[in-house]
Amino acid sequence: MHWKWMSLLLAVPLTNSLANAGDVRVGVLGIFHPHQLTLSSAGGETIVVAASGETFFLQPGSPAASLQIRASGDSLLLSFAGKVIHAKEIHAAGRNQDATDFVLGVPGKIERRYRGTLDVSIADGVLVPVITMDLETAVASVVQAESLAGTPFEALKAQAVVTRSFFVAGAGRHAEFDFCDLTHCQFLREAPRPGSPAALAAEATRDMIVTFDDKPVAAMFTRSCGGRTLTPADIGIPSGGYPYFSVVCDYCYKNPVRWRRSVTSQDATILSDHREAGRLAVDRRLGWNAVPSNNFLEQDRGTEVVLEGVGQGHGVGLCQRGARAMAQEGADFRGIIDHYFPNTRLGHVAAHPPLRNHAERRLHP
Ligand SMILES: [Zn+2]
Ligand SMILES: [Zn+2]
Repeated sequence: MHWKWMSLLLAVPLTNSLANAGDVRVGVLGIFHPHQLTLSSAGGETIVVAASGETFFLQPGSPAASLQIRASGDSLLLSFAGKVIHAKEIHAAGRNQDATDFVLGVPGKIERRYRGTLDVSIADGVLVPVITMDLETAVASVVQAESLAGTPFEALKAQAVVTRSFFVAGAGRHAEFDFCDLTHCQFLREAPRPGSPAALAAEATRDMIVTFDDKPVAAMFTRSCGGRTLTPADIGIPSGGYPYFSVVCDYCYKNPVRWRRSVTSQDATILSDHREAGRLAVDRRLGWNAVPSNNFLEQDRGTEVVLEGVGQGHGVGLCQRGARAMAQEGADFRGIIDHYFPNTRLGHVAAHPPLRNHAERRLHP
């Protein structure tokens, strides 16, 4: 029978099984505003896809190895083994609704390999792929994407704990999923190879999070701080329950990353309160890193305003550059976290499972 469409009928219930308490829902590839996606198995296992009350199977190595998904008005157009079907959303998983390895691609732009289960829906004519993945897979993936090659292991471990804490406590910035895969939440691409430094850093700190007052902290981090970290209040964003402190970061203090930019006087007005909202508004329009940080001085030159600043990113929480330097000088990950998050303690995910900002969605065949 190979790859025929199969009716749901008496097959296994294809409702979206409830995610494990340790899973996070990550919206991926949104930066490409995809109108088309391809899905295929990456691990040699069959992928079970549920859509519009039907079930079909993507079998590696067969003519029906991949599924094309296209946006069509407010629904999805699925092409599979020469057939076309309309659906509002799809759910893809391994057999028994397990996590599985798959490749998701935006034709002509990108292909990435993920492990988890996949839901695709449509919003405003754009496909919205959401992966439900194991927390530890997500942590290792972010450590890999967020860290420079050669980062000392203790700094990677500190990043892993901070990243895990953010996943546990930081949901709520998106309606359709818990986290995006951009620096807006945390940068996430493919999972690292087993045995790679990022994977080992996640394993070495498994289950550990930053807590304050026995509650998980949605711990923030920044590329470099300019010499002193900022507090959320400094840049006009909510602190989420942890009273951040502005701490001196020795390495950046002695060698700040300096930058210089020219902006129009209109943009300078938007930036004048040194708040994150203004910086992001200008960056969204002019491009990532158009204004690297909120820590700058302005010089009005008539037709333009010159900004001279230090640091990269919002400047709050763990400074990645400072953490690397601390680790090089012998600090361990606990020392690094204590430095950037004073008055916190290490806690465990088991006692504080990830918060969710929306009810689990279920497919209704
Ligand atoms: Zn986000
Ligand atoms: Zn720093």
